[in-house]
Amino acid sequence: MKKTVSFRLPYLLETLLVSLLCSFASAQQASPILVNDAAMSNESNGENWLAFGRTYSEQRFSPLTQINQSNVSALRLDWYIDLPNNRSLVSTPLVVDGVMYFVSSMNIVRAVDATSGEEKWNYDPQVAQHAARRMRAGWDNSRGIGIWEDKVFVATWDGRLIGIDRNDGSELWSVQTIDPELAMYITGAPKVFKGKVLIGNGGTENGPNRGYVTAYEADTGEQAWRFYIVPGNPADGFEDEAMEMAAETWTGEWWRHGGGGNAWHGFTYDVELDQLYIGTGNGSPWNHKIRSPGGGDNLFLCSVVALDPDTGEYLWHYQTTPGESWDYNSNMDIVLADLNIEGRQVKALMHAPKNGFFYIIDRENGELISAEKYTEVSWASHIDMTTSKPVEIAGQRYENGTAIVYPTPVGGHSWHAMSYNPNNGLVYIPTIHWAATWNDEGYDFSGFQAEQWKIHFGVDFALTGNSTRPDGVEGSLQAWDPIRQQQVWEVPADGVWNAGTLATASNLLFQGRADGHLIAYNGDSGEQLWDENLGLGISAPPITYSVNGRQYIAILVGWGGSLAALGGQVMADYGWAYGDHTRRLYTFSLDGAASMPASAPQRIPTPLASSDFIVNTDLATQGATVFAESCVFCHGFEAVSSGMAPDLRASSVILSATAFEQVVRGGALAPNGMPPFTDFSDAQFDSIRHYIRQQAEAGLAAAR
Ligand code: CA
Repeated sequence: MKKTVSFRLPYLLETLLVSLLCSFASAQQASPILVNDAAMSNESNGENWLAFGRTYSEQRFSPLTQINQSNVSALRLDWYIDLPNNRSLVSTPLVVDGVMYFVSSMNIVRAVDATSGEEKWNYDPQVAQHAARRMRAGWDNSRGIGIWEDKVFVATWDGRLIGIDRNDGSELWSVQTIDPELAMYITGAPKVFKGKVLIGNGGTENGPNRGYVTAYEADTGEQAWRFYIVPGNPADGFEDEAMEMAAETWTGEWWRHGGGGNAWHGFTYDVELDQLYIGTGNGSPWNHKIRSPGGGDNLFLCSVVALDPDTGEYLWHYQTTPGESWDYNSNMDIVLADLNIEGRQVKALMHAPKNGFFYIIDRENGELISAEKYTEVSWASHIDMTTSKPVEIAGQRYENGTAIVYPTPVGGHSWHAMSYNPNNGLVYIPTIHWAATWNDEGYDFSGFQAEQWKIHFGVDFALTGNSTRPDGVEGSLQAWDPIRQQQVWEVPADGVWNAGTLATASNLLFQGRADGHLIAYNGDSGEQLWDENLGLGISAPPITYSVNGRQYIAILVGWGGSLAALGGQVMADYGWAYGDHTRRLYTFSLDGAASMPASAPQRIPTPLASSDFIVNTDLATQGATVFAESCVFCHGFEAVSSGMAPDLRASSVILSATAFEQVVRGGALAPNGMPPFTDFSDAQFDSIRHYIRQQAEAGLAAAR
């Protein structure tokens, strides 16, 4: 310590002073931040990453500038940890006071030292032991956790919301948010605000389900309120006036089909206006003609709905796709910013849902300010600014038979986070340029009834895998000017399934890609400034934080999300074969001195040859239906694995009736995320094997 006094203090006084100053300094350093509304709305604190989108605005913009455009090329690995037995990793880690919290496979939450990766604790909600059969719906994906004061919150695949002590990882409370008989699940991050924890659910595609969101008290887990997204049977009475209003936009016996609308991702709390925004899901089933045969907008499907955060009471809504019929949900992130639009300061909400339009909405009243196409769109020509509704193109509702429609159910933009840099005014969007074929000929609309735990779209649909662009580009990263509603720059990507983005005050932009590369760009121009190959497809967004004056960039690497499961051959071609590649958490800094760990080479599984198994084509045809209803979401289109689950064509388990029984009906691989399907009949059970072997032989023939 530097002394500034010119005379000698008595020894005792001097030591007392020194120890006092030292304890003050260390106390300041260790002074814990109180994670509450004030902290989570503080845009200027770059040390921590306290909420899913860093702060309540969901901008994923950091004020940190140590890593900048001139030195980012010197970014090096600082530390990493292996995550053995993990599969898909898609989540956003949170950082509080030098401790990083993140959720990994099977909803296991970990706390590690943010400067070394050393584990402090882990919490395992024991999903497979608790509710293996419920894993029939959804995926082993969790996009994140929430923090409030001294607690961490995780929502589990099987529908529980759990409060955990942030200091030691012990469970404080646990509530079941979903009726265990319903084929619904959770992949979303709990949203925390005002001492409450909000969670929604998925399951629109898994049965006749009705979406809702529920808020719980952070301290106790006690339910505070629930908001249903679509109306139930009017004969049962409506929960609130909003449901009564929504029911007028539905026709037929919609409640028999659940209606859907499940809110599985985009939740934003607006601390300034004290409102909560919910991005809502698509209809169940997909086909509007079945769900609401006399037409109708079907509120509150595919909408941004504003709610009172204290009561869950409806405030306003804006519907992006009225009467949707293409899985065009509005579950994508909802980003808040003050925008100067034609000389007026607008408290804006920015939203780029699946349907291909980028929306600016005045969040004080829900009024549409502007909407333009951020990718190729075939289903609507434009949004009419007098009605605030899309002007649809004839034939796109497959009313005349087969229709090629874009965007696809994968979306023009999916849940992969967009970010917003308020310094240069640009939004960064992972964008998809794909088309799909739709046809509902042959469906008996009057007799249609979906069943729980089975996938029924009420329409035949296929991804064409073709680009919607003359240059053949299927995916891109683009910078979008939200005020002028136009693209500023674009970087074409290899394929469609590229991860979320991070913007910083140095006007840097970070994104991980499906090909395994983490890239830093000049956020103003799109010029590539740094590139590191992380050896496995990246599906999670990067974060940044600082500890003891060192800025870090961190990212989870573990190929995941729906398309990494069900995508079939087009995703298998990346070579991220199930089980080959170690899942990791990587952290980079300018002072990093660690060596990059080795990764397994890319590999595309080849089907197993067998002369013993004779395929019965009738059984295989039956098996194709069973597979499409119960297996495809994890094991892939045409039984070709995209890497998140084993490629069944290459599995010896299929060849043995005994082994197949143990795995499929016996639940032998439940700890790996494979649910037991105890309700398969013997005929159904056998037919799946014949279908998979038929696909294996087709794959072998194609390779010859
Ligand atoms: Ca959907």
